Amino acid sequence: MRIEFFGVRGSFPAAGQCQSLYGAATPCALIKSAAGEQVILDAGTGLRTLGAQMMAKAGEGTLKATILFTHFHLDHVLGLPFFDILYRPNTEITFISWVDPEEAHEILALLMKAPLFPVGFDETPSKKTFVRIGPEGATMAGMRVQRTQLRHPQGCMAYRFDDGKRSAVFATDTEHPEEGIDARLADLSQKASLLVYDAMYTPEEYEAGRQGWGHSTWEQGVRLAKAAKVGRLLLSHLNPNYDDRAVGRMRRAAKANFRHVEVAAAGMVVKL
Ligand SMILES: [Zn+2]
Ligand SMILES: [Zn+2]
Repeated sequence: MRIEFFGVRGSFPAAGQCQSLYGAATPCALIKSAAGEQVILDAGTGLRTLGAQMMAKAGEGTLKATILFTHFHLDHVLGLPFFDILYRPNTEITFISWVDPEEAHEILALLMKAPLFPVGFDETPSKKTFVRIGPEGATMAGMRVQRTQLRHPQGCMAYRFDDGKRSAVFATDTEHPEEGIDARLADLSQKASLLVYDAMYTPEEYEAGRQGWGHSTWEQGVRLAKAAKVGRLLLSHLNPNYDDRAVGRMRRAAKANFRHVEVAAAGMVVKL
């Protein structure tokens, strides 16, 4: 399994020279199975770079893409109007989410509607299909995909991808419980090769009035990773206010508690 990150910021794109190590773009990742099939997770602003790469490689033939959504908050969909292949004829895009297909279509069309955007979603020439992933999970790009609901305003789905040998869990936006760990997420993450986890706040910031905002800390990520015996932990959904030094401090604090932790970055490729 190969995972490439195109955006790892949370809530809002970051900007500024001090944020170059981890990138400015919001969540978007490309997950490729051992068999070479691929699925895009989330359509944050990182999707723009991925779309440009897909377009450059596409040639003349039919192009197919699948996007799986954790949820529809702006930071996870804002790249869609700037996804080049949306405007490419002879292109088939499958949009998968945990809400009804008609509702998903409506939500995404809202983003590209006058006066918010000059081109309507349904006016673009790509062929679009909407699919729901139910509680039973699905097979996607040759991988088994399981889901569990996270603790986040309006909901957010965590997904586990298994290709028979390796597994990766994405818990992009979640808030840990007041006591203990999230048992459902711990179940989903059990012995995963990789856990990508929401580390939006430092423990100090969280305690100082961020409870109920739907996000978590590196400390809770480490606690969960240890409890679920995951191979590697990647801290993600980085706070857009953090410059490289602030992220570096978070990384060092996490490392002191768990050897197998890193911070996700736009452009990072993880091979499992
Ligand atoms: Zn988010
Ligand atoms: Zn959210």
